[in-house]
Amino acid sequence: MAGNKDFDLYKVSEEHDELRKVVRSLAEAKIAPFAAEVDEEGRFPQEALDALVAADLQAVHVPEEFGGAGADALATVIVIEEVARVCASSSLIPAVNKLGSLPVALSGSDELKKRYLGPLAKGDAMFSYCLSEPDAGSDAAGMKTRAVRDGDSYVLNGVKRWITNAGVSEYYTVMAVTDPEKRSKGISAFVVEKSDEGVSFGAPEKKLGIKGSPTREVYFDNVRIPADRMIGEEGTGFATAMKTLDHTRVTIAAQALGIAQGALDYAKEYVKERKQFGKPIGDFQGVQFMLADMAMKLEAARQLTYAAAAKSERTDGDLTFFGAAAKCYASDAAMEITTDAVQLLGGYGYTRDYPLERMMRDAKITQIYEGTNQVQRIVMARNLP
Ligand SMILES: Cc1cc2nc3c(=O)[nH]c(=O)nc-3n(C[C@H](O)[C@H](O)[C@H](O)COP(=O)(O)OP(=O)(O)OC[C@H]3O[C@@H](n4cnc5c(N)ncnc54)[C@H](O)[C@@H]3O)c2cc1C
Repeated sequence: MAGNKDFDLYKVSEEHDELRKVVRSLAEAKIAPFAAEVDEEGRFPQEALDALVAADLQAVHVPEEFGGAGADALATVIVIEEVARVCASSSLIPAVNKLGSLPVALSGSDELKKRYLGPLAKGDAMFSYCLSEPDAGSDAAGMKTRAVRDGDSYVLNGVKRWITNAGVSEYYTVMAVTDPEKRSKGISAFVVEKSDEGVSFGAPEKKLGIKGSPTREVYFDNVRIPADRMIGEEGTGFATAMKTLDHTRVTIAAQALGIAQGALDYAKEYVKERKQFGKPIGDFQGVQFMLADMAMKLEAARQLTYAAAAKSERTDGDLTFFGAAAKCYASDAAMEITTDAVQLLGGYGYTRDYPLERMMRDAKITQIYEGTNQVQRIVMARNLP
């Protein structure tokens, strides 16, 4: 695809550009054809999972020493971005595999890393992240799920809410209170397996968008797990959960970029074909200005996201600010761009015969999860560069 100006626009490095080409052609051939159906039927995008696993793209972030591709943060962003460009639900496969497993990669023992990252890298298992609860969303430290030590085990009881890929994933990083007196410093992280006795799942939530990505409650009813499934030291779970989000907010920014790019690409072509007043609507300056603004916002979001990815790769001191800024800016941009793309298709944009209304619905979640955009602003204000 050398010489394609779409790709020239994104140029990063030869390796990253090559990866983008591979993911884009896979996404267009094997994921895009099912995106509307997955949304319409609210079903898991199995075709996407199969295609990503076949190409070793389902969890590229896993380090080589644990059997993974060892891709850097920017490469992971590119994979998510290109999958989200055609199907946001499917992009949650690589995104949440990183979110769920990063606590293990950042803070887990070597034993835990070997045991849980290997199957993820091979495509034998997916990983979910269990922080939120029915009464603990933005104030995640207010969680109630308890883990009580009993000999060589911990026993978990509680409910996690809004868990992406719950039921499909084999492994779950679960944050639970080990010392209720200490609030965030009394929270520990554990790996729980789907097959552990006492683990069960609620019905899939009926959502506005990302309908192909299952979101369910996860119930822990006297789930007894070996004490060595604790990730890091007791009382460090909340810190690990927040460190994880510093990195993975960059992947939500990537998802927002991808959705917005898909909408812009579609609208750009549409205005060349659709004629009103005897000429293509793309000839009207009012339409051209909208497209210019959409492209400008998208490119600004991309630059911020890629800068944040570089900081994630190096774990720079200002990553917390940049991760929150990239997620917040890119998701707000995606909401505006997809809304404008619907506008450019007029009445057609408002129907399910075209993909724009799906993209607009899908964009909305990027302003909400991994911390709402109000929460991102709190995080940024506390960590100003
Ligand atoms: C589809 C989906 C998938 C998700 N996946 C996961 C997952 O895999 N794992 C997981 O752990 N969680 C997941 N979440 C949970 C998500 O991160 C939370 O929904 C989010 O953090 C907000 O929490 P809440 O829904 O309880 O809203 P609330 O915290 O109740 O917030 C409601 C409103 O109040 C605002 N607000 C709250 N506090 C403040 C404040 N201090 N200042 C200003 N405004 C404030 C919020 O911004 C928001 O607008 C998912 C959610 C959804 C919808």
